Order: sequence, then C-alpha cells, then structure tokens
Amino acid sequence: MADEIEPTVESSSLSFSPKFNLDYAPALESTSIVSIDPEYGLFIGGQFVEPQSGESFTTVSPSTEEPLARIAAASALDVDRAVKAARRAHTKVWGPMSGRDRAKYLFRIARQLQERAREFAVLETIDGGKPIRESRDVDVPLAAAHFFYHAGWADKLEYAFPGRRIAPRGVVGQIIPWNFPLLMLAWKVAPALATGNTVVLKPAETTPLTALLFAKLLQDIELPPGVVNIVTGAGATGSALVEHGDVDKLAFTGSTSVGKQIQRSAAARRVPLTLELGGKAAHIVFEDAALDQAVEGVINGIYFNQGHVCCAGSRLLVQESIADSFVDRLKQRLSTVRVGDPLDKNTDVGAINSAEQLGRITELVAAGISEGADCYQPQCSLPDRGYWFRPTIFTNVQQSHRIAREEIFGPVLSVLTFRTPEEAVAKANDTQYGLSAGIWTEKGSKILWMADHLDAGVVWANTFNQFDPASPFGGYKESGFGREGGLQGLSPYVSLSSNELSSSTGGS
Ligand code: NAD
Repeated sequence: MADEIEPTVESSSLSFSPKFNLDYAPALESTSIVSIDPEYGLFIGGQFVEPQSGESFTTVSPSTEEPLARIAAASALDVDRAVKAARRAHTKVWGPMSGRDRAKYLFRIARQLQERAREFAVLETIDGGKPIRESRDVDVPLAAAHFFYHAGWADKLEYAFPGRRIAPRGVVGQIIPWNFPLLMLAWKVAPALATGNTVVLKPAETTPLTALLFAKLLQDIELPPGVVNIVTGAGATGSALVEHGDVDKLAFTGSTSVGKQIQRSAAARRVPLTLELGGKAAHIVFEDAALDQAVEGVINGIYFNQGHVCCAGSRLLVQESIADSFVDRLKQRLSTVRVGDPLDKNTDVGAINSAEQLGRITELVAAGISEGADCYQPQCSLPDRGYWFRPTIFTNVQQSHRIAREEIFGPVLSVLTFRTPEEAVAKANDTQYGLSAGIWTEKGSKILWMADHLDAGVVWANTFNQFDPASPFGGYKESGFGREGGLQGLSPYVSLSSNELSSSTGGS
C-alpha cells in the first residue's frame, strides 16, 4: 500500500545530474539465519505456555504485508500468572542472589546478543520494517551494550548509591513500543535485573518477534525461570499489567496519551512509575555552522528509522540568513536517500511500521498541505506492497500548524526559521514536549547558552541521535519523567533508605 495523498511535489532549485550511474545493485541480506515459528505462546516461568485467553493475533511484515506468525494475546488471567511467576522468582531466587552472580547472567545475555547479532537484526527488520543497516549497526549492538553496562553495575550498587541501604523494588511491569523493539527491551530489562528485580514485559503488538527470540535466548543461558516473563498482546494486555495489584514498579515507553492513562492508574495506587513518552524535537542550525555536516545531521535526525523515533529532530529551526540555501541542500541530499526493501543493505529508509501508523502520517501530512505549508518529496519509486511513505520536507511552516505541534512519528520534517538565539529558544520551547534538541554552530559559548535555555532532556551539539548506555535519556513536560541509562537509570529500580552501609541487593 503506497501513501495515498497527492502533495505538491516541487523540485529542488539545485539540480543534481550525476555524470555516472549512481544506482546501487540490490544487496539483500539473507534471511536463512532466522527461523520463525508458526505460532508463539506466552513466556511465563521460563516456558512458552498456551494463553488461558485462548486468543491470538497475527504479526505481519510491514514491507511485504505477509503474515509472519500467530502470537498469543494475554488476558488479565495470563498477566496474573506472569506476575505470580515473577514474584516467586524474586522471593526465592533473584532477590536473594548475590550481585556478582546476577552479573554473570547479564554478561551471558550480552554475549549471546553479540553472538546471535545477525539473527536478531534480520528478525527485527522483517518484523518491524527498519533498514537492516540500522538494526545491524545500531539496535542490536546497543542492546548488547546495555546488558554489558548493567552487568558491570550489578555487584557495585553500593558505589552507585554510597552510604544508602539499597533494596530492589520487587516485580516490575514494563511496556514498550514498536520503534526499537529489542533496544527498548534492553533499556528496560537490563537495569531491572541488575538491581535485583524480576520482570513482566509487554512488547508492542506489531513487533513481538525479537522479544520472543530473546525469551529463547534466556532459556539457552539458563536464566532462572520467572526472572523475565514476556506477555504479548495489545493495549488491553498492557492495561492488565498496569492495573495488576502485585506489581511494585511500572516503566512505560510509548505515546503521551497512553502514558497519561497509566500515570492516573499508578498514582491512584501509589505505584512508582517512569514514563518515556513522545517528542517534537527542535533541530537548530545557526548560520555559522559547518553546513555540510549539519545537512547530514538533520537528515539523520529525522529520516533515521523512518522518523519513528521519539527524539527525532522533526522541527528544523534554521537561521533566516541561510534558510533558502540550507533547504536547497537538504532537498538535494534527500534526492539521494534510498527508500525501499529494508533487507537491502543499501536502504536508508525502510517501511512504515504498520498500516495504522501510515494512516496517521498520511493524515498529518494532508493537514500540513491544507494548512498552507509547502510540501516537498523527492521522486522515488515505492514497492507495490507494504507500507511506505516518501521522505517529506515542509517549508513555509507556521508555529500554529499541526505539523509543527503534533508528533508525526514518520519521515516528515517541518522547517521554520529564526533570527536570534533568543527567538530560536522561544520557538524550540513552544511545545508540549521536552525530550531532545540539537544545535549546530561553530561557537561553543552559543552551544552552552542554548543548552542551558532549552527545555529538553537531551541536547546534542554538532551531532544528533547519539546514544550510550552510560548516558541518561529522558524527557521533561509531556515527554515523561525518569531517566533510562547511566546511574540515573538505576535509581527508579531500587528503594533507597538513608545512612546504612549494608546492601540487600547482594553486594559482591
Ligand atoms: P502506544 O502508546 O500506542 O503503545 C506503546 C505500548 O503501550 C504498546 O506496547 C501498546 O500495546 C501499549 N499500550 C497501548 N495502550 C495501552 C494501555 N491503555 N495501557 C497499557 N499499555 C498500553 O505508542 P506506540 O504508538 O506503540 O509508540 C509510539 C510512541 O512511543 C511515540 O509517541 C513515541 O514518541 C513514543 N516513544 C518514546 C520513547 C522515549 O524514550 N521517550 C521511545 C520510543 C517511543
């Protein structure tokens, strides 16, 4: 299914006419390393079990629309079974285990992720539609890095929280989205396990397969049964986990609207909660920036992972003096971006994750056109089947336009201009979100001043989309609260009490 709207396709004022053929020969990644079962049960107590609900749903490949497998849909009863398994494992095995022994399991997980990296990367791309280049070079290596990093903390928690008594929360309920399925799993599971908690995790309904492969990996490394349980299903399964009375901590990554519902429920029962929600990042380019690098940064900032990135630089704020020439350079660069089969190693922009998400992007782009912004899309042929959207740039955008205010979560950039740093900050902060921002300038003092004034959990300078397990990530305002990664990401998973030096999470 290709996108249905008819935008005004204008061409760049800089013409690009290569003197030789720049077409790439197909370079398809082999899928033979991946074996997908026809159906999957729930992973509870170390085993794959039939759901008591008796219900299942199909996960499809977004680049071909082919059904891949039937996936169990967990009911509230199934979630209860998973929470009980996690509780048992916490009380009998994982809670009492020394930090040093827990670390060994985390190291094993990390090493297995590295050894099976290609299998995980290919499966992620088949189930989610993201380019193999990204799942191979970003998602899977970063997921392994998160387990390595947290393995290092497991027996050193008394140094993370010196002088405090440390106890795990107990059973944690974790809900993740579809844009980085394995990586979001790692962001959630690694700190929870390192700090002595057990887990019930719900992956997103459109991308359950790498979480289920991860469950098999846990069997292979002989993680004690019940330490990690994986319940698949849609919003109702997530809601059952949120509402469960025996969950000690909740962690959610997803949309702001669902995050608000979860916050209401958790607040009523005083369950500790962290929320990683949506974003509408400003990517700010000053006239004194290294413009070729800034073009690459802006392209990466919005078209990486089809723009399905919470911290995507979806609003470009460019200084008025260079706006026209910078937009021309962007359009020229966009004309070389390759859209298509995500299993092709040359692909830059893959498939949109689902028909539903394609519908949302299409609707917002149509709103941008009808509100009067100018829409540019490069010429590129899209496959006949699957969910696709052409990379898009909007110019002549006003702050009031929906495309400047709402999270599109697709490959769509809205360009606005500014004259002074103060105006850039005012426009950047004029949003309900506060997750990330980017600044491009050669002047260090301007970077520091801007970073100080931007309401964003992460500010990148002369780069974008850089992630490291040691570096905390999270938002302000309606982008959520709590941090993932780094020391700050450990603290939501422990209870701390003051002035006692012993640790009940098991020192070394
Ligand atoms: P979503 O909120 O629709 O779904 C996220 C997860 O929540 C899925 O597993 C879904 O099944 C589950 N869910 C849906 N309704 C629920 C309910 N009522 N109770 C409990 N769970 C429920 O979001 P999405 O469309 O899957 O993901 C995209 C959103 O996630 C975007 O807004 C994006 O910005 C955000 N996101 C944020 C971060 C971050 O770190 N801040 C990272 C990735 C994605």
